[in-house]
Amino acid sequence: MENQVTQRRPHVVLVPAPLQGHLSPMLELGTLLHSKGFSIIIAHAIFNSPDPSNHPEFTFLPIPDNLSAGNAAPANLLTLITTMNSNCEAPLREILAQLMNKNEQHDQICCIVYDMIMYCSGAVAEQLQLPCMILRTSSASAAVAYESLPRLYAEGYIPLQDSKLQDVVPWLPPLRFKDLATADMGNIEDILEISAITNNTRNAIALIWNTVDHLEHTALAQIQEIYPLKFFPVGPIHKMAPPTSTSLLEADINCMAWLDKQAPHSVIYVSIGSIAIMEETELAEIAWGLANSNQPFLWVVRPGSVSGSEWIELLPEGFKEAVGERGCIVKWTPQRKVLAHVAVGGFWSHCGWNSTLESISEGVPMICRPCFADQNISARYLSELWKVGLHMDGQLDRVKIATTIKRLMVDEEGKEIRQNAKSMKEKTNLSVSKGGSSYSSLNELAELIL
Ligand code: UDP
Repeated sequence: MENQVTQRRPHVVLVPAPLQGHLSPMLELGTLLHSKGFSIIIAHAIFNSPDPSNHPEFTFLPIPDNLSAGNAAPANLLTLITTMNSNCEAPLREILAQLMNKNEQHDQICCIVYDMIMYCSGAVAEQLQLPCMILRTSSASAAVAYESLPRLYAEGYIPLQDSKLQDVVPWLPPLRFKDLATADMGNIEDILEISAITNNTRNAIALIWNTVDHLEHTALAQIQEIYPLKFFPVGPIHKMAPPTSTSLLEADINCMAWLDKQAPHSVIYVSIGSIAIMEETELAEIAWGLANSNQPFLWVVRPGSVSGSEWIELLPEGFKEAVGERGCIVKWTPQRKVLAHVAVGGFWSHCGWNSTLESISEGVPMICRPCFADQNISARYLSELWKVGLHMDGQLDRVKIATTIKRLMVDEEGKEIRQNAKSMKEKTNLSVSKGGSSYSSLNELAELIL
């Protein structure tokens, strides 16, 4: 550590949030900034700690946090955010102050970049008089929608009324009131309080977005009106950076050999990301829906993601025999490689923002089945605006699942969606290539930090 911190490169401290979907883009941003000549220090919570051996070029500084796995369950996310910020603020300040005292004048920290939900870093930056920037790891569309929550609350739309759920929010098309569902995140007063804290940019000089201008031009312009800061849309960050391992869970690479044996564009890949969970009844409906679809499928069942079971003990009787070699079930995949594989023809996703960007980058059309929070917003944009997915809404049942898979993978309707996904991939490739919007934005960001 000592050697790296005293190298004569300007030091940037990155403070990621300890959740898979937040950690990956921050580490990849680190790789990008390192390639621009910065020395990278990752100040990270001990809970869900990244693996330093995957990034020998970074310096890692663990922040004692007193957190445990139970804190990261979906129902506890608001508490996780407040607890981790109150637990991390003092140790982070101490660690950075020590670093500043130790380093020579020319080796000082030139900037802190923190994840929006690690807002205690903004306070620390202020106290230590360091410039800071904020990384937003979810979409600009979600930011616009959540900025609207106080208005929706003040005008009596929240708590949501059943009679209005399907209506489009007049000032947020194509979003419906139901896409702004907040009940699954906790009580509305708590949500408003945390949104106010996380949306407070304090003395940050810029917002860095893991998004791409061609996808979210309008949303970025709308949110720019609210935040008069420099904006840097540099995404999809994973496409800008060379591939590195940022996964907290070990991927089962056997699924790649299974994919090699499948016909091009035939496989439906199914994953609900790193946090969402499901009930046993949903597991059974998904299983029979996949079985009845007659398509090959690669299904990620994350250990602990089915209530009341360790892994796949609760799969319905007769299911494995019914699907045989046509189905591959694993605990975790190398998702980006899976989506880039020629055999994959569709992605049934919970529409987490990283999964959304990863699917768009590879031109894979989607079945959108959001579980909570901003996933609802991405699902609506994917299906209604970008038209690269089908929204599988309402109660989950095996008939609906098999029909939706057929619509996407076999029917004419699916061909059009696949074509849209392909052209979205091409635009995204241009954005991350020399002269493209994200490419140029990253260069401007590096100049500003210097
Ligand atoms: N992921 C993976 N293997 C899996 C499932 C997910 O590598 O089997 C990765 C995926 O590529 C993405 C991240 O986990 O980068 C999930 O982030 P996302 O924002 O999509 O959803 P979240 O987990 O935050 O709900």
